[in-house]
Amino acid sequence: MSVKLVANDHGHAHTRANNENLRRGIPLRTSRIIAAGSAAIVLAASSIAAASEKERLEERLRAVEPRVIEWRRDIHRNPELSNREFRTAKLVTEHLKRLGLEVQSGIAHTGVVALLRGGKPGPTIALRADMDALPVTEEVDVPFRSRATAEYRGETVGVMHACGHDAHTAILMGVAEVLAGMRDSLAGNVLFIFQPAEEGPPAGEEGGAELMLKEGLFEKYRPEAVFGLHVWSLLRAGEIGYRSGPTMAASDFFTIRVRGRQSHGSRPWQGIDPIVTAAQIVNALQTIVSRQVDITRNPAVVTVGAIKGGIRHNIIPDELEMIGTIRTFEPEQRAAIIQGMERIVRSTAEANGASATFHVDPSGNPVVVNDPDLTRRMLPTLQRVAGAENVKELALITGAEDFAFYAREVPGLFFFVGVTPRDQDPETAAPNHSPRFFIDESAIGLGLRAMTELTLDYLAAAGG
Ligand SMILES: [Zn+2]
Ligand SMILES: [Zn+2]
Repeated sequence: MSVKLVANDHGHAHTRANNENLRRGIPLRTSRIIAAGSAAIVLAASSIAAASEKERLEERLRAVEPRVIEWRRDIHRNPELSNREFRTAKLVTEHLKRLGLEVQSGIAHTGVVALLRGGKPGPTIALRADMDALPVTEEVDVPFRSRATAEYRGETVGVMHACGHDAHTAILMGVAEVLAGMRDSLAGNVLFIFQPAEEGPPAGEEGGAELMLKEGLFEKYRPEAVFGLHVWSLLRAGEIGYRSGPTMAASDFFTIRVRGRQSHGSRPWQGIDPIVTAAQIVNALQTIVSRQVDITRNPAVVTVGAIKGGIRHNIIPDELEMIGTIRTFEPEQRAAIIQGMERIVRSTAEANGASATFHVDPSGNPVVVNDPDLTRRMLPTLQRVAGAENVKELALITGAEDFAFYAREVPGLFFFVGVTPRDQDPETAAPNHSPRFFIDESAIGLGLRAMTELTLDYLAAAGG
């Protein structure tokens, strides 16, 4: 439950905030002071201090929230594809510099990071937002609808923030502003990570979280923990979703090339048909998950997403290409699935007298694993901010996120902020990546609060 302060009712809210804090046993400092003596008086004084601190925080959050929404709309109207986030990075850089942070731009191409040094000693924690949009033509009728286009895989495409990274970027800009205003009382440092290319860099380029780390991000700043959020269509505005342990799938991108021998469509016996071979491969691949994976341990997914081959109704082509994705939750299962696929591709091609290659791109994402201890420690914060009844434990998500790379280095917590309007069924809402993906902006304030309060609670607990 969040402590709601009403502008003309500070005294009353004060008391409510106190009671709330006491009931939850939040002011750790208080209990130590009590032990030192003169219990009641010190307790009262300390609670008042805590409450007015809380009040000031609430004022800061309330002041920045409309601007976060403005930034989000501005970024939404001007989306940029992965590794091309030039305008967004500039907006972020200028904002962070205005806040007086130590800013480093141009990391992993267009990434921006900034360090906020707290006034008191303590650990460094990292907060991450991603900045890139998708090759999707927006169909949502909002005043800040995207009309942007760009080149993608040799085609001109519409560009849209169909995954909500506009909201992530704007929220983190807001968190930076709130925390920068409180820097003297922070026991530790906050590293703000504005990351490019979460959706994957263009072919032939590196990018995203993996490249940020490769360029030494964590070696330089040494964060003790990392937090990230994702706006999520499967939850309603006002709700937060989380999960402990494995949360989002490892994703692998594969390419299959089937090589036959060209012939006229009327005389197939003179060639080797790669199209019929490919059809058999696609069907046989379905037996991996249905017959070869222990589905009681983990779910898995094998999807062929595109087949390209041939040009005309009566010409059997020489070869064709298929691409697809594999989603897994365990390294051993991942390895077994890849092995099984390789076997099916090779032997099915052979059975048809064709040949085939199977290639798994090495740039896949690992599983997003939320550190169980960190999740347990921070859950009360999420419950306080959203209201316990609005915090849902989620099932495994077969989507992937390159936040996984950070959470592999240090304990991480990646959580989900609902954005589907409250009166709509999330199951029927347009999902992330859809041209109709829609964010109910009333959710943005919750994301802002959750990220800010996670940071404050973590640092307060670490600093004692
Ligand atoms: Zn996405
Ligand atoms: Zn995303």
